[in-house]
Parts: sequence; structure tokens; C-alpha cells
Amino acid sequence: MRDQRSFGAGRALALGTAGLMLVCLMLVCGGVFCSAQKPAAVGKTSPDPRIAEATQQVSADRIRQTIEKLVSFHTRSTLSAQDEESIKAGKGIGAAREWIKAEFERYARECGGCLEVKTDSFEEQPAERIPKPTQITNVYAVLRGTDAQQAKRIALVTGHYDSRNSDNLNTTDAAPGANDDGSGTAVSLECARVLSRMKFPATIIFLTVAGEEQGLNGSKHFAQMAKGEGWNIEAVLNNDIVGGDRSPQQDASVVRVFSEGLPASAGEAEIRRIRALGGESDSTSRELARFVAEVGRSYDAGVKPLLIFRLDRYLRGGDHYSFNQQGFAAVRLTEYREDYNHQHQNVRTEGGIEYGDLPKFVDFDYVARVARLNAATLAALASAPGPPAKVRMLTKELQNGTTLTWESSPGAASYEVLWRATSAPDWEYVQTVSNATRATLKLSKDNVVFAVRAVDSAGHRSLPIVPEPER
Ligand SMILES: [Zn+2]
Repeated sequence: MRDQRSFGAGRALALGTAGLMLVCLMLVCGGVFCSAQKPAAVGKTSPDPRIAEATQQVSADRIRQTIEKLVSFHTRSTLSAQDEESIKAGKGIGAAREWIKAEFERYARECGGCLEVKTDSFEEQPAERIPKPTQITNVYAVLRGTDAQQAKRIALVTGHYDSRNSDNLNTTDAAPGANDDGSGTAVSLECARVLSRMKFPATIIFLTVAGEEQGLNGSKHFAQMAKGEGWNIEAVLNNDIVGGDRSPQQDASVVRVFSEGLPASAGEAEIRRIRALGGESDSTSRELARFVAEVGRSYDAGVKPLLIFRLDRYLRGGDHYSFNQQGFAAVRLTEYREDYNHQHQNVRTEGGIEYGDLPKFVDFDYVARVARLNAATLAALASAPGPPAKVRMLTKELQNGTTLTWESSPGAASYEVLWRATSAPDWEYVQTVSNATRATLKLSKDNVVFAVRAVDSAGHRSLPIVPEPER
């Protein structure tokens, strides 16, 4: 399997079609020929020491405590109890919700009120997996950006705090959900605890949703609210089953990152455009996945992103899809190998096999490594300038060179043009463009995929934007 994986400097340095073209490449920037600036192979970027330091604050022990606490509520079925008495007794989804809220509030106190703790609560009407009207509550904390202009940009991390056992409608028997998705909930909480000690120009939201097992109800409501209110969510990291189940076949050195190809939100005209231009592997979610891969190369999280160019696993779905449907870039992080005996199962032993989603099957060090990767990605995005707007490729005439234009991005000190062979999974080459909003490359747009990203004076990179053709 390993040789097929798409990460690592080895792959980045491999010469593809674009590599051969590199030899004869020259660049014109801002109308001035810039022969001094040579393209480089995309590898890792130099990490921000402040971010690297923060990720080291992620604690496997804290994550263990969070997951054990979540399991202590006995069941977190969305259909389970949420009355006052059950909350007091510490049983059911209501108690879990209140505890998560209190935990966010504790982090908020520890950072002098830097986090706004909120809930998004609604009554879901009966459906296939919701027998009666049910209150569903998403709990989240907002670390507001410090820069007036950048604060509208949002990076978001989410996990679902509801759980289930063998029977999705069972509301009373144990549904520990340590891995699915106590692990993802713990990632959101731990990222909030660690990153709330820092300040970023852009905003970070730490979200935990309910209703996932009933049909992505919580995330759907949240994503629709965000779309309806015009939130500028640039990135959603959905952590679902990141517990690193301790089966012998597990590979604890990687975490899978799933991303959609054709956007769920694309209308017919956009699908036509994607088909015509070969844009099937350049959805904003895919660019986000590549961003996570670059963070994985640049920061020492201890786990490497394994990019899977697919929305999700077979027969399964997740909360990132709710965001995709509303047009947001969203990816799913999941452990390398799932053990289905430890998911959606009643806790029992049968034929010598232990079933159930119990904490003893979770590798807390692994969850911590995944949390570090998430924290570094969120911090890198929230530190970066916004991506350049209106990135265009001039296609008025048949030409062998390529001219790209874009609008300047607040906070950007320079820009980078990225490209790769059309058959390459990730960006291969990068060319710095000093503070200009136009670049002409002696490289045919027919043969490679281009993108442009903004870079600030400290070296933080925005998400890359693939140009739209302009006639
Ligand atoms: Zn799940």
C-alpha cells in the first residue's frame, strides 16, 4: 500500500510532465520579466514556530479524560433523554451536551473570555430514523479573529457527540461511542483548549454536532444556518472515527483525508465547465485536502495525511457532506483501518469476540496526533491572508504561454503560482510572484493545472484558488 500513497517529499520531487517542462520555463511577472525567480518543487513550507509550539500543547491524557467522560453518559443517542433529571444524573445526550458546553466555557474563562460559547438548537420533525419530534443541539465555541477585515473568514473543526449501538432507535442501552465519535468530539475540544491561548487574524469555530447517526441532522442545520447568514467558511475539518482502533492491522502513522471531487453544490452549468476543463480533481474541498497534506509535511504532528480522492467510505456518510451541500470546502478525517466490531454495536462478547465502541480500543496518543494535525491546519489557515479573489486565466487567444490575473488579498505580501501535471495528485511546482497581481508563464495551460495563493510576510499561505478562464 505504501508506495501508492500520495504524501512525502519523494512524490513531490518526482518529475512528471510538468517537471520536464520546468527545464524551459521562464516567468514574466507584473509585465516585467523575472528570470531571477526560479520555480521550486512543492515540498514542505517552513513552519510557524508559534503554531508548532501550540500543537505540542495537545495532550493525549486530556483527550483520554474527554472520551472517558463522554462514555460515562451511558448513551448519547440523539433520541435519548435530555430532561433535567437525566442531565442531573449524568445520563443521555442532554447531559453530554451540557458537559461539552461547560467544558468550552471553562476554556473561555481560562483565556479571559476569548471564546464565545454558543448553541444551535432546533426541533427536528419525525423522519425515518426520528420517531418523534426531537430537540437537536449543536454546541460550539468561536475564537473571533483579531483583524477586522480577516475576522469574517472562518476555519471550522467539527465532530459529532451523538452515539448509537446496534439499534439506531435504541435510547436506553449502552452506546459508548468512544471512537465514533468521542474521538472527533475530543479533537474539537482539545483544539479549542490549545488554540484559545493564541490570537489569530481570522476566526476559528470549534463545533460539536448531534443527530449525525439519525441522518446528519445537526450538521445540516448548522451548515444551512451558516449559508443563510452568509458566513465565509473557508474550511471544514470533520473528524469522525479518529480513535486509531488498536487492531493489529491498524496503521497509526496515517490518517485518511476524504474529499469530494465533483462538488455536491455544483449546478448544471458548473458541472459542464468542470467537464470541459478537466476540473474533476479541483473542488475547493480537494484543495483543502491538499492544504492538510502540506501542513502534514510542514508540521511534526506525528501522523501523515493520506489523501483519499472520494467523498467518503463505501456505505457511509458524514457531517462534511452537509457542508459540501451548502457549497463549503469540507473534508473528513478518519483512521486508516476501521474495526466494524467496535462501531454501531451493542457492548457484548460473542464467540470470543468483544463488540462495542469502548475506550479500551482507542489509541489516545493517535487521537492526540490527529488533533495536532487539526490544530496546525486551523492555525495555519487562520494566520494566513485570505485567498486571492477573482483568479482568472486569460484565454482570449490560442497561446502556448499562460497569463493569470487576480485581485490583491488583504494581508498578502506576495503570491505563489502553483501547478501540477493534469495526472498528478498534488501540486508539484511553485513560483513566487512578488507583490503583483498578474503573472505570465511560458507553460501551456492545456498541459498543467494552475492555482494561485496569497502569502503574508511571515510565510503563511492561503488556500490556493484555481483560475477561471476569461475570454
Ligand atoms: Zn460517526
